[in-house]
Amino acid sequence: MTDSLLVNDIAGLRRSIAGVEIIDDPQLVRLKSRDFFWYSPILKAELNRKSAELVVIPKDQDEALRVIGACAQHRIPLVVRGGGTGNYGQLVPLAGGVILDTARLDRTVFLKPGMGRFEAGTNLIDVDRQARAIGWEMRMHPSTKRMSSIGGFVCGGAAGIGSVMTGQLRDWGTIPGIRVATCEPAPRVFDFRGRDVAAATHAYGTTGVVLEVEMALAPVYPWCDAVVAFDDFMDAARFGQALGESDGIIKKEAAVIAWPIPAWFKALKAECPEGRHVAICMVAQSERAAFEKLASLHNGKLTTWRPTPDETQSDTTPLYEYCWNHTTLQALKVDKGVTYLQTVFPIGRNLEVVEKMYRHYGDEVMLHLEFQRRFGRVNCSALQVVRWTNKDRLYEIIRHHEAEGCIIPNPHSYILEDKGPKVIAGDRQLEFKRQSDPFGLLNPGKMTRWSPQ
Ligand SMILES: Cc1cc2nc3c(=O)[nH]c(=O)nc-3n(C[C@H](O)[C@H](O)[C@H](O)COP(=O)(O)OP(=O)(O)OC[C@H]3O[C@@H](n4cnc5c(N)ncnc54)[C@H](O)[C@@H]3O)c2cc1C
Repeated sequence: MTDSLLVNDIAGLRRSIAGVEIIDDPQLVRLKSRDFFWYSPILKAELNRKSAELVVIPKDQDEALRVIGACAQHRIPLVVRGGGTGNYGQLVPLAGGVILDTARLDRTVFLKPGMGRFEAGTNLIDVDRQARAIGWEMRMHPSTKRMSSIGGFVCGGAAGIGSVMTGQLRDWGTIPGIRVATCEPAPRVFDFRGRDVAAATHAYGTTGVVLEVEMALAPVYPWCDAVVAFDDFMDAARFGQALGESDGIIKKEAAVIAWPIPAWFKALKAECPEGRHVAICMVAQSERAAFEKLASLHNGKLTTWRPTPDETQSDTTPLYEYCWNHTTLQALKVDKGVTYLQTVFPIGRNLEVVEKMYRHYGDEVMLHLEFQRRFGRVNCSALQVVRWTNKDRLYEIIRHHEAEGCIIPNPHSYILEDKGPKVIAGDRQLEFKRQSDPFGLLNPGKMTRWSPQ
């Protein structure tokens, strides 16, 4: 039998998994094979036509293991899908095969003060709904909380709303444990704890299928959405840094967004005055006086202060849906001529380099900073909105940032290794992949460090 016959033996796979829910309508399968890669004109050209051949929706972990085992037996590529909100084509199948949709793996294994363990497909809103009922909530979540799964967040995401207080997903203690299945005819299940969770976190499902995630929680505060407007961008940036460093002010979000980006926020005309740079923040209700004082010390004017809508109870848009990668989305809704970058500024020199880039690029690379704790210190990363011209120009901008000491987790590549040193240093992933994926079936083409024997 040829390799291609082995790879494409979908009929054989279907026989092996009879009784498991599937989707085989090509249009629906193609829809489920997509994420938000189209933010990037480069990825759009590369990935637009890629699709799986079949979507499988196991109803529980036993069925998931059956599907994984059958894929290994029939040598069929397997990509896992949570909410499908990844940004770089992480879940787009490059070699056809099967999408394993985790939507029905949504049970809560346990929930107690400070900690919860959930099946990988559990929607993040559901995590918070349950946790808030006992006075806790996620320490950090992506701005896609309404759509994302907990498995997708730990396998594709990095940080989010909350990171200004509690750091990154990869910080020790944030993800105390995960359960992962290997892709073998008889899949093995590993329960990783502590540092070993790195074998499968932020690996795009290339090293295993995550079945359960244990996640640290934080106490719930009554949060307020706040907007502060500034005439001067660097005043806004210094305010973001100062807020991050103000340990006495309890906050969950601190984004600084340069004009003209707020001009694209059609629903926030009142909150974002014409021509002003803004800080969009989430702050504990009790902290208003200190927050407002800090803003005024940086020449900022509070334009908005209102309770953050509880997304578990209402459809009202919280302001964090204008932050993180929602900022880019809001811009793209109005102007298809923009794309984005991701940049980590050099710690300790971050504001100096921010200022240099702000003055150098003007409206070509519009700054959107996210203040957060990294390695125990406050830094900012940027998700700049970039006026698109062509690939050469984009890479010129990237190289300029790198020359200034920035790290660019390149959002115009689906390759894991292009996301910077934190991934390349992830030896645990490579080590685990050697045993977990002997036939190279897990999201093939995304991890270039590994090649099939
Ligand atoms: C508008 C917007 C805003 C965003 N904001 C943020 C943000 O604030 N912070 C952030 O970190 N990211 C952000 N992202 C990226 C993305 O939302 C996060 O990575 C998100 O948490 C992914 O969750 P998901 O369930 O949609 O994952 P998916 O897109 O379904 O999957 C992401 C990756 O993980 C793999 N995967 C999914 N589930 C599993 C599993 N159970 N086992 C193994 N592999 C799996 C997939 O194959 C894929 O490679 C944003 C994206 C968009 C479009």
